[in-house]
Amino acid sequence: AAEEGFDLQDVEGAIEAAGHGPLPVLAVVGRPNVGKSTLVNRIIGRREAVVEDKPGVTRDRVTYEAEWAGRRFKVVDTGGWEQDVLGIDASVAAQAEYAIEAADAVVFVVDAKVGATDTDEAVVRLLRKAGKPVVLCANKVDGPSGEADASYLWSLGLGEPHPVSALHGRGTGDMLDAVLEALPEAPEQSFGTAVGGPRRIALIGRPNVGKSSLLNKVAGEERVVVNEMAGTTRDPVDELIELGGVTWKFVDTAGIRKRVHLQQGADYYASLRTAAAVEKAELAVILIDASENISVQDQRIVTMAVEAGRAIVLAFNKWDTLDEERRYYLEREIETELGQVAWAPRVNVSARTGRHMEKLVPAIETALDGWETRVPTGRLNAFLGELVSAHPHPVRGGKQPRILFGTQAGTKPPRFVLFASGFIEAGYRRFIERRLREEFGFEGTPIHISVRVRE
Ligand code: GDP
Ligand code: GDP
Repeated sequence: AAEEGFDLQDVEGAIEAAGHGPLPVLAVVGRPNVGKSTLVNRIIGRREAVVEDKPGVTRDRVTYEAEWAGRRFKVVDTGGWEQDVLGIDASVAAQAEYAIEAADAVVFVVDAKVGATDTDEAVVRLLRKAGKPVVLCANKVDGPSGEADASYLWSLGLGEPHPVSALHGRGTGDMLDAVLEALPEAPEQSFGTAVGGPRRIALIGRPNVGKSSLLNKVAGEERVVVNEMAGTTRDPVDELIELGGVTWKFVDTAGIRKRVHLQQGADYYASLRTAAAVEKAELAVILIDASENISVQDQRIVTMAVEAGRAIVLAFNKWDTLDEERRYYLEREIETELGQVAWAPRVNVSARTGRHMEKLVPAIETALDGWETRVPTGRLNAFLGELVSAHPHPVRGGKQPRILFGTQAGTKPPRFVLFASGFIEAGYRRFIERRLREEFGFEGTPIHISVRVRE
């Protein structure tokens, strides 16, 4: 490495950074209007505020990446939640419950000007039961005179209230320091620790694609509920299901079975549940209704799973209803609309007739294999060497940037760091990704490639 112009320490640092596995997850919960969305915007450094969203606008996106003091983590924003038909307490509880379930730590936001309400107390009980680390944010403390309001919140029994003005930024730095202390370095569900346990699968897809039908078809009555958080409105439930002689854990299936009809916020609720399931899973089976056009919502769900770095299987359901014409157009649609996951194994199933159910497990195993693939450094560099000499980077400004060497820094999903003598264009990066896939497989998994350029 040294003779290529890279300092050994830089190389090790880059590999360490790129190999960083799944990020810890922070959930921001609290009653409506306490300032959750404002706070999330502040944490992720976003200018255009979610609070300006018009009511009723679908907000599919609920997880964001953030960084504070050099540490990266994910933030789950529950601010898009709206009170539903069950009433405010049940609504807030359900929202908090999903977010807490998926999180490694929680910021609980209370409006310090209002003080602790009964709804806040209800959330405190949920937080106690979940046992996750909590940072108490006393929001709307816009100036020193508000500090006294914040101190009343000691009564919640969650430790020190952090006085914050999410709107103006006051106190958010100190609160984020506390958040970093509460967040584990690696998420609790760190994949490495799950050795030997059942693999975790999230069955996701927009409403009515056939998720509960599929679950019933593959599992019949044999499923075992393993994780019931009793006494709450909508329990995230994991179920053990045996398929193809192997036991799998289908995470967060309660939302699939017990469908609660919400008047408002239903899409948002579905997104939050999907995000929570994806966070907990190693692999996502994304169910798509083959009888309908592929929608923006389908694509968002795919993007959610890709960005989370999960192994992916695409299952096209309701195949029993397709005629020849629809099959023809579906293939075209898949090419144009689902190009970002062209590498995902695909099964064409019918939850109604049971068609091709037996193909699901092989597809899942293929994708998990791809997700865990590690390419030895020697083989990778032999491959890169040949590739670069056969297909050099285009010359730019009289210079020809070159990939000098590379290494795989991590798996689940595979992460590569390439070291280059100059800026590598996006087109050439895509070309390398394509060739890596041709050479080493990686079926069913996103791959990350970062490029370090010699100073
Ligand atoms: P959410 O429903 O909990 O996501 O709350 P929002 O983030 O939508 O905020 C609700 C309202 O409180 C908005 O009008 C915000 O501008 C306001 N707000 C949020 N944070 C603060 C704050 O720190 N100080 C003041 N004065 N107002 C705030
Ligand atoms: P979920 O909302 O994703 O859980 O979807 P459901 O399992 O509730 O299914 C929605 C509707 O699609 C129901 O009326 C099902 O009977 C129907 N459905 C599910 N799978 C199939 C299938 O493979 N073929 C046909 N024709 N209908 C299906």
